[in-house]
Amino acid sequence: MRTPLVGAMALALLLVGAPAAASHSDSTAPDRLPWSARHLGGQALPERDGWAAEGVGTTGGSAAAHDRTRVVRSRAELVDALGGDNATNATDATPKLIYVDGTVDGFEGADGTPLTCAELADPGYRLADYLAAYDPAVWGRVAPAGPLEEARVRSVANQTRQTQINVGPNTTIVGLRGARLTGLTLMVDRASNVIVRNLTFVDARDCFPAWSPTDGEAGNWNSQFDQISVRRSENVWIDHNTFTDGDNPDSGQPTYFGRPYQVHDGSLDVTHTASLVTASWNRFTGRDKVLLIGSSNTVGPDVDRLKVTLHHNLFEGVLQRLPRVRFGQVDVYNNQYRLGGDDFEYALGVGVQSALYAENNFFALDPAVDPADLLHDWGGTALTERGSWIRQGDGPARPADLLAAYNAAHDPDLGTDAGWTPTLRRDPVLPAPLVPLVVGPLAGADRLPV
Ligand code: CA
Ligand code: CA
Repeated sequence: MRTPLVGAMALALLLVGAPAAASHSDSTAPDRLPWSARHLGGQALPERDGWAAEGVGTTGGSAAAHDRTRVVRSRAELVDALGGDNATNATDATPKLIYVDGTVDGFEGADGTPLTCAELADPGYRLADYLAAYDPAVWGRVAPAGPLEEARVRSVANQTRQTQINVGPNTTIVGLRGARLTGLTLMVDRASNVIVRNLTFVDARDCFPAWSPTDGEAGNWNSQFDQISVRRSENVWIDHNTFTDGDNPDSGQPTYFGRPYQVHDGSLDVTHTASLVTASWNRFTGRDKVLLIGSSNTVGPDVDRLKVTLHHNLFEGVLQRLPRVRFGQVDVYNNQYRLGGDDFEYALGVGVQSALYAENNFFALDPAVDPADLLHDWGGTALTERGSWIRQGDGPARPADLLAAYNAAHDPDLGTDAGWTPTLRRDPVLPAPLVPLVVGPLAGADRLPV
């Protein structure tokens, strides 16, 4: 029962609380951050917590000096904290600890207002011209070429300079409560020892998708700009982040040449010989392609690389690559999947020379999803899959042998032994039925105390 006294106390609390909440500028000094936020920023990856704990381990920018510890609230401040020049920041190896406060938009121009796709376009590019020129009915089913395609490529380069934020080695980026990175790619390329935590990544998008007429039977629109790309780097920890397309879902995009105009690429792609990555407690929602590990079937420098651990992540309403693996020894344990819808394709992609070890994952599926289709063979030969549970529709949760279901429905069969056993696991592996109880509430941004 609400009494006048309680009402008065609530009002008093509101008034006492108001000045602290209003003095926002104070919080931009790292020294003024709450202890919990400074504690989070100073954390290294715990020992044995997945592949990123291998070798020298992952400390990020936890040892940053005072002058390289910043709170950033804009794209310009983020670039400044990373070293001052987006064109050269990838080589700044000085330890740096960066807190993101509020929303940082990759499209934010020099004056602070967001740039439009038209402003980033090369003068020679217009989508209407591109569609007219490369319509398969006019151009045939061959790759676009010539001045318009060249202008599109120049446009992509313009956008790359703007929305791709280059991260150097020995960096920690941590979100304060509610922090968002929108329309932006974190590029971790030749930058080892990087930690990214407690951030919501919203709608990294490509203003200039490419028409690929020979990709699939009917062609595809393909985009660049992952939410996080990890390339040629080691010891990277991606923890407690949320990845979403926000209010720009694929379902809202038009169709051109009979195919969806796809402006989104991956959420977290680990490619180009990167290795020793741990992705833990992240929430991947509402994207098509989520986690590509290895981007080429070429048997070469990716061999014995691409080692990734995925644990306690939530994959919700996403369509494919959860993950898709080439070459790497990839440990996928205690993840929760909520999958379905007409466009769902597959969860675990078994690619060339991949060594997936999937243990005690929980799959909540729409009734229309055939459990035999949770695996997809992209040229692999075997995986270890054990302890999976499935709940379909409103039915009971039950143990399921995904690999046996796959092999019963598809040929050639996949073997049952990935050829290795993970040892870098910090916590005891939970039985799959317990996974939704912990991952559902605790995965994603804004779950850690800051
Ligand atoms: Ca990608
Ligand atoms: Ca078979």
